[in-house]
Amino acid sequence: MKKRSSTIISAFVFVMLIFITACSPQKKDEFVAFDVAANIDSTVSPADNFFKYAVGTWIKNNPIPSDKTSWTAFMELRENTREQVREVVMAAASNKNAEMGSVDQKIGTLYNIGMNTEKIEAESYQPIIGELERIDGISNTDELIKEIAHIQIYTGNPLFFFYSTVDAKNSEQVIAGIWQGGLGLPNREYYFNDDDRSKDIREKYVEYVANMFNLIGSDNEMAASQSKTILDFETKLADAHNTPVENRNPEATYNKFTTDELYQKAPGFDWKLYFTSLEAGDPGVVDVGQPKYITKIGKMVKSESLENWKTYLKWNLIRSMTPYLSNDFVTESFEFNNKFLNGQEQIEERYKRVLNTVSGALGEAVGQLYVAKFFPPEAKAKADQIVASLKVSMGESIKGNDWMSDETKTEALKKLDAFGVKIGYPEKWIDYSSLEIKDDSYAANIMRANYFQHKETLGKINQPVRDWEWGMTPQTVNAYYSPTRNEIVFPAGILQHPFYDYRADDAINYGAMGLVIGHEITHGFDDQGRQYDADGNIRDWWTAEDAEKFKARADKLVEQYDGYLAIDSLDLYVNGRLTLGENIADLGGCTVSYNAFTKTEQYKKGEKIDGFTPSQRFFLGFAQIWKGSMREGRLETQVKVGPHSPGNFRVLGPVSNMPQFFEAFDIPEGSPMRRPEDKIVKIW
Ligand SMILES: [Zn+2]
Repeated sequence: MKKRSSTIISAFVFVMLIFITACSPQKKDEFVAFDVAANIDSTVSPADNFFKYAVGTWIKNNPIPSDKTSWTAFMELRENTREQVREVVMAAASNKNAEMGSVDQKIGTLYNIGMNTEKIEAESYQPIIGELERIDGISNTDELIKEIAHIQIYTGNPLFFFYSTVDAKNSEQVIAGIWQGGLGLPNREYYFNDDDRSKDIREKYVEYVANMFNLIGSDNEMAASQSKTILDFETKLADAHNTPVENRNPEATYNKFTTDELYQKAPGFDWKLYFTSLEAGDPGVVDVGQPKYITKIGKMVKSESLENWKTYLKWNLIRSMTPYLSNDFVTESFEFNNKFLNGQEQIEERYKRVLNTVSGALGEAVGQLYVAKFFPPEAKAKADQIVASLKVSMGESIKGNDWMSDETKTEALKKLDAFGVKIGYPEKWIDYSSLEIKDDSYAANIMRANYFQHKETLGKINQPVRDWEWGMTPQTVNAYYSPTRNEIVFPAGILQHPFYDYRADDAINYGAMGLVIGHEITHGFDDQGRQYDADGNIRDWWTAEDAEKFKARADKLVEQYDGYLAIDSLDLYVNGRLTLGENIADLGGCTVSYNAFTKTEQYKKGEKIDGFTPSQRFFLGFAQIWKGSMREGRLETQVKVGPHSPGNFRVLGPVSNMPQFFEAFDIPEGSPMRRPEDKIVKIW
């Protein structure tokens, strides 16, 4: 499946974009023991390294499986959830009475054709030969523009992402958007960094691209030349890409252009022809994330030879369609992307990869079956209750803070009050009836699924926002905040152990799920989110003085995380500026959730469980969601590309700023886990 732009939402965890990306509910009231004690490494003092103390034994006992790049609470739950998804997919696949066109038939057929390796091996890359021939047939610039649109609809994402987005200055309305893209390496710095590792990556990348061209029939000499063209071409694109930090600026990445203005910005690119070929008509206005990037593309239409363009388009086609082709393609991609770049030793079993595809292409169809079987109403009721208490707690944090003026507080409270909340699954589901899934080829089905998704996108543009719509499927183990909709969303997938269990004690639920909820609420008030108002419009509702105070506090947090060494051998530190929004949300989320927890009966009674006070259990519960480890390559990718800090720092960062934590574990002044008074950051 094609990657969807993730620019409009703040997700809770980093999602790998390679290969796109169980226990049944038990009876109510059965107390579920959360054995946090078993994960503790008591040879480490909580004052020295709370992460190692809280989950050190778990990490020792749970090495990273060979088919994973990390092994964490998230991954564990994702595995479990995928097995749950497998159950509903298999049930659909085994429904012999499923009528052609029914949801069961679609899910079953797509799964079965994805699992039919005999057929897939026999076909090799035949299912995309027609697409390759189209590219070969390009004989002028007009045909090039048409082909770019065609590929964006059906198979890949050359150059940029075309998508639908809420108009960030008129948040009732959806408009068309364009966001930078089209690179085969994770982001721009991979093309320019001068260290040995980066050079090595580029060298291996060229080999990988050549191998892939080999597979579609290029001889060695030609493949070598094509792969050099790709690196060169992508380096030119990358040169005009924003850095990830630059992309964190909502005002700078909001550029609403009319079609005429697009022509002025990028005259070489026939926008009218492009939109027509995209079946988008005239979209009227387009929100362009990075204007200098489309200017560059406009120039490259003229400066690059048609041959180079064809090579670039073929590369985009092949790499996007690889998961649906024969194993030689899949292996080449795995060797470079998963193994070399991210350290994964073995590829995941095929059925898992196919389930991901089914879960992506027919996301809400699978989701509807999933929640019916695995999401009990009790889970929603309890989650509703925690969300409500967290909102109250955030309100108190805003009202009670000592640095904001009353004027800004009023606006902030107005925004909090307007927060939308979605829990579990959508009230209205996507209708897949126009998507045909049949027994021709795996790749052909994916192309139709991409077309279906594209039509969905077109259907939203220049229409009012659909309030019922979700940005994640119910089976997703993640959560998000959308600043333009001012809403927090928690899919059913994440509302499970160890994040949450409606039968567990409050300390654990507030420490884990409460943190997730508090984190998403805080996104509305992080360095990016605070730039949007209650209605989801970019508007500065802060007094100048309060904005300065916010920035001063945020800068201290940047400094704190800049000091975290992620990979010693690469001298690679966390990027405090890139991860700022997530770090603010982690710190705010933990504080707000803790304050909400202090209102529960469990906290008030103060009784110990397994030898731990309620407050201690809260922080231990919090650490559970970040337990785990990551392969060095994957860690490197995350630190360079992603907005989230590595898991250990997501624990150490917040607690070392929290007096509530110092008190709970008797952390003496001067300890590594207790930042000096003048360095402590408190925003929310
Ligand atoms: Zn987040």
